[in-house]
Amino acid sequence: MTVSVSSCVFSHEEIRERVKHLADSVLRPAAAEIDRTEEYPYAHARALRDIGIAGMTMPKAYGGRDVDFLGVTIAVEEAAKACGISGRIVVDTNMGAVPAIMAYGTETQKRRASELILDADKPAICFSEPQAGSDAVNMTTKAVRRGNSYILNGTKHWITGAGITRLYLVLAQVYDGETYQGIGSFMIEAGHPGFRVGKRLPAMGLRAIPEGTLHLEDCEVPADALLVPPAGLKKGFGQIMQAYNSQRIGAASVALGIAQGAYDASLAYVDEREQFGRTISEFQGVQWMLADMAITLRASRLLIQDTARNANPWPDVTASAQAKIFTAEGAIKVTNDALQLHGAAGYGRDLPLERMARDARMFTIGGGTTQILRNMVAGGLLGRRLPQTRT
Ligand SMILES: Cc1cc2nc3c(=O)[nH]c(=O)nc-3n(C[C@H](O)[C@H](O)[C@H](O)COP(=O)(O)OP(=O)(O)OC[C@H]3O[C@@H](n4cnc5c(N)ncnc54)[C@H](O)[C@@H]3O)c2cc1C
Repeated sequence: MTVSVSSCVFSHEEIRERVKHLADSVLRPAAAEIDRTEEYPYAHARALRDIGIAGMTMPKAYGGRDVDFLGVTIAVEEAAKACGISGRIVVDTNMGAVPAIMAYGTETQKRRASELILDADKPAICFSEPQAGSDAVNMTTKAVRRGNSYILNGTKHWITGAGITRLYLVLAQVYDGETYQGIGSFMIEAGHPGFRVGKRLPAMGLRAIPEGTLHLEDCEVPADALLVPPAGLKKGFGQIMQAYNSQRIGAASVALGIAQGAYDASLAYVDEREQFGRTISEFQGVQWMLADMAITLRASRLLIQDTARNANPWPDVTASAQAKIFTAEGAIKVTNDALQLHGAAGYGRDLPLERMARDARMFTIGGGTTQILRNMVAGGLLGRRLPQTRT
C-alpha cells in the first residue's frame, strides 16, 4: 500500500527503509549506553521525528501523514530490532493516546497534541493506579466538575514516560457534583499546577524510559481538557479502550522487533562459533532451536500485521489480544534461546542478548497481562462478559 504525503510518497517500504537506516546509524549504536545510564534518549525521539515517523498516523491537516497501523507496526519492528526503547517511542507517538485524541478530541485538543508530538514529545496514557492494575475500572482518581473546570485528585502508577513526557492522557472517574458521569480522559500537560511527578519505579528492562508515579492534588483543569468520545461519557470509556487496541499491536511489534534482533544476532553467531571442530550451526540441536525461533517470529508478524491490516477503524479487540499474547510469550522464549545459543557470551553484558531478554520480559504484563488478554479472547469466543473481568 502506498500513502501519498504532501510532496513525497511514504510507502510501507519507505517507512521500513528510513527506520532501518536510522536504526543502523543512530539507534543501535546508543542502545547499550542508554540501557546503562537509564536516561531517556531525547535524541532518538527527535531523530524519529526528523525522518517523519513521530505522529505519522495523524491526519495531514495536523502535520501527520495519514499512515495506517500496518505502517506503524513495520516502523516499530524495525526500530525495536536495534533498540526496544526506540520501538516504544514509535508506538507512543502513533498509537493509543494519539489516534484517540485525533478521533475524539476537539479542534483545540488535536492542534495542541499534534504540536507536542511534532516537537518530539512521547505522550503517556494513564490508567493504572496502585490498587487498580488489571482491574483498571476500579480506578479511584476522581474528577469533579466545578464551574468551567474539573478538579482532579488521585495517584497514577507505572506510567511510562512519567517525568519525560509533556502530554498525559489521564483517566478518572468523572462527577458533576454528586452525579457520576463515567470514566473520562483528560489531556494534562507536565508542569500543570497540582500535577506532580512522583517516584520513579526502577524496572528490569526497557530502562531508558522512566516508569513512575503521578500525583494529582486538587489539580484544576479547564472543562475542555476532557476528551468526550461520540458515545458520551457513560459509554465513552469503551471507545477509548478500542483506540487502546492500537497500542496493544504496537506493544506486540516492539516485542517482535526485540526478538527478531536477538534471532538475527544468533543466526550470524552460530555460523562463526566453533566447538568440537565445527561451527555450532552444524548441530541439529542448534538448528531446531533456530527453526522454532523463526516459526515464532513469522507467526507473530502474521498475527500483528493481519490485525493491523483489518483495523476498521480500530484493531479488533480479540485479534489484538491474540497477537499480543502470542508475540509477548514468543519473544520471551526467542530472546532466551538467543541468549542460550551465545553461551556465556550471551549471558555477558558485552553483547546485547541479556538486554534483549530483559526488555522482552515486559510485554506479558504492561498494556494488559496475558491472563487478562486471554479472558478477553475467551469472552469473545463465548460471546459474553466473563465473571472474572469487568470490561
Ligand atoms: C513496564 C510497564 C509499563 C507500564 N506502563 C503503563 C502506562 O503507561 N500506563 C498505565 O496506565 N499502566 C501502565 N502499566 C501498568 C500495567 O498496565 C499493569 O501492570 C497491568 O495492567 C497489570 O496490573 P498489575 O501490575 O497491577 O497486576 P495485577 O492486576 O495485580 O495482577 C497480578 C497477577 O494476577 C493476574 N490476574 C489479575 N486479575 C486476573 C483475572 N481476572 N484473571 C486471571 N488472572 C488475573 C494478572 O494477570 C497478574 O499475573 C505498565 C506496566 C509495566 C510493567
